[in-house]
Amino acid sequence: MKRIYIVVPCYNESDVLPETTKRLCQKLEGLKQKEKITGDSKVIYVDDGSGDDTWSQIQAISRKNPHFEGVKLSRNCGHQNALLAGLSYAVDKADAVVSMDADLQDDINAIDQMIDAYEKGSEVVYGVRSKRKKDSFFKRFTAQGFYKLLKSMGVEIVFNHADYRLLSNRAVKELLSFKEVNLFLRGIVPMIGFKSAKVYYERNERFAGKSKYPLKKMLAFAFEGITSLSVKPIRLISALGLICFLISIIMLIVFVAQYFIGITVSGWASLITSVWALGGLQLLGIGIIGEYIGKIYLETKQRPRFIIEQTTDTETEGAD
Ligand code: UDP
Ligand code: MG
Repeated sequence: MKRIYIVVPCYNESDVLPETTKRLCQKLEGLKQKEKITGDSKVIYVDDGSGDDTWSQIQAISRKNPHFEGVKLSRNCGHQNALLAGLSYAVDKADAVVSMDADLQDDINAIDQMIDAYEKGSEVVYGVRSKRKKDSFFKRFTAQGFYKLLKSMGVEIVFNHADYRLLSNRAVKELLSFKEVNLFLRGIVPMIGFKSAKVYYERNERFAGKSKYPLKKMLAFAFEGITSLSVKPIRLISALGLICFLISIIMLIVFVAQYFIGITVSGWASLITSVWALGGLQLLGIGIIGEYIGKIYLETKQRPRFIIEQTTDTETEGAD
């Protein structure tokens, strides 16, 4: 039996908290009865600087029920940071931490399978949406476009997986060793490595309140995802520069050929070729400078260069 903590970031979620609390409480009881988790497993609500009565509700809940604890951030730091705050709060207290949204869009029954996979040795268990029927067409379209865009930019992410996942205590510790400030957990978690598993579930509708991710925040999130994990956009500039430069050379050849045939417009050839040549060279130059900036940027993240999974010394320990 393992001690499991469930971390739930909450931003202006006063409409959903009573129901979420009720269901999570039932879930914990159920899991306890099935002897999957210990009696002191808990739910950690992280209040991400809400403007409504979310925090006073969390305080009241934790006073009434020892299975619930709260952490309040000093201001709205964003979903990803709130999640990380919860993970770092829970890490030394639990064997594994499950993270999920407050609105119960992610089916909490998948936690059972997550714990099973964890017991079988997976350190990271991803919750993956099998269907998104209940999402609006717009949300589905933008979300899936976003996954594809990230993939094409070379970012390793699990398709249709959001921030519903189980991380073993060890995986959380390794995650916390990624010191970057621009945080995009979905892209970083696969970098931790270790044995992982996927659990499929159907995504529900938000049962109360509004989405805290309007289009503007979603676009910012996508941009954050790309720029914090990939230097490919810089390479695109170099590629574009090279293409422009090649075009100018082709033009030059064409113009020289035309000169010999006798079709010339005075001044035009030299002008247009130099516009493309200079434009191309400039873009290429920016791309090369960008390449170095990209390196500096990756260095400043101070990411761990490797994570040791096991040594022969710890082989017996590693099995638990
Ligand atoms: N959230 C947060 N801080 C924010 C925005 C959102 O902690 O600045 C939380 C929110 O309370 C919820 C989760 O992040 O628990 C996901 O938000 P939401 O359900 O609104 O996103 P959607 O499901 O629409 O993508
Ligand atoms: Mg939601």
